Amino acid sequence: MRAAIIPVTPFEQNCMLLWNDKTKKGAVIDPGGDLERIRKVIDESGVTVEKIILTHGHIDHAGGAAELREQLGVPVEGPHEADRPLLERLPEQGRVYGLAGVRAVTPDRWLNEGDTVTIGGLVLNVLHCPGHSPGSVVLVSPEERFALVGDVLFNGSVGRTDLPGGDGAALIHAIKTKLLPLGDDVTFICGHGPMSTIGQERATNPFLQEGMLA
Ligand SMILES: [Zn+2]
Ligand SMILES: [Zn+2]
Repeated sequence: MRAAIIPVTPFEQNCMLLWNDKTKKGAVIDPGGDLERIRKVIDESGVTVEKIILTHGHIDHAGGAAELREQLGVPVEGPHEADRPLLERLPEQGRVYGLAGVRAVTPDRWLNEGDTVTIGGLVLNVLHCPGHSPGSVVLVSPEERFALVGDVLFNGSVGRTDLPGGDGAALIHAIKTKLLPLGDDVTFICGHGPMSTIGQERATNPFLQEGMLA
């Protein structure tokens, strides 16, 4: 698998083009905006995009999804349906943050715990990890020891829980019961900032240390 990270929107969100180097087929994850920049990376890579995947319904991740779906003629998969209200209110999120022309999006497929998603032939497992948003999902490739975690977990931090539908206790519970057990050697790409590993976060993330009241 190959990955290109494309920072988009004023929130510096890590949009990603993920593809199989053998087949040159892949997916765009979290196209929050700046579609010209995303299209340029797709064109330069020579990758055929088969689908768009959303980790959750916040504007910096989903704000460009409806338009990119139209441009590429591919389906949108994810997040969990609990984020439907967020995706329906994307134009309002846009007005709040001063971003023009943001459209609502209804995914072609909602994702549930235990589902699988394929990207260029690679199978990823779906984990439903509410807390940052009610419908946040994490995608894991046990084979490649790799995960896409959206805004659930960051290098040295965790997702904010003060936005509508946020739940701090649920977030820490999801990280401890679903992400930490994936294994210390699993590398993850998150929605903002540098990548990390489960092992590094288990050892040093201040939100995950024993005795920490979340
Ligand atoms: Zn978010
Ligand atoms: Zn974000």
